[in-house]
Amino acid sequence: MSVDRSRPPTDWPGLETAGLTLLTDGIFYGWLEHETNPFFWHWCPTYAGLPEKKKVSGGWVGAGTSAHTLVSREPLHLEPSLLWQCCGTHGFVRGGEWIPA
Ligand SMILES: [Zn+2]
Repeated sequence: MSVDRSRPPTDWPGLETAGLTLLTDGIFYGWLEHETNPFFWHWCPTYAGLPEKKKVSGGWVGAGTSAHTLVSREPLHLEPSLLWQCCGTHGFVRGGEWIPA
C-alpha cells in the first residue's frame, strides 16, 4: 500500500504506535520499534517545491537521530542540534521544544 506523503505522518498507516508528537507545524517526531532515539519528519521546503513527478516522498522527509545523544526522552532533549541538509533546517530540541539555530 502506498502512502500519500503529502499528508502528515500522523495520517500514515503503520505509525499508530509511534507516539507521534508535533514539535512545530512542520516537524514531527516519533518512536520506531528497535530504535532508542526518536525519528523525525519535517515538511521540507526543498521537496515540497519540486514538480509533482519529481517528488520522492511528498513534502515530508524522514530522518533518524541515531548519531545524537538522547539526553532526555520526556521532555525530549537531544544533543547536538539537528541539521537537515536537504533544506538547511537547523535547530535544537531541548525541553520538548524546537529551538531554531
Ligand atoms: Zn528538508
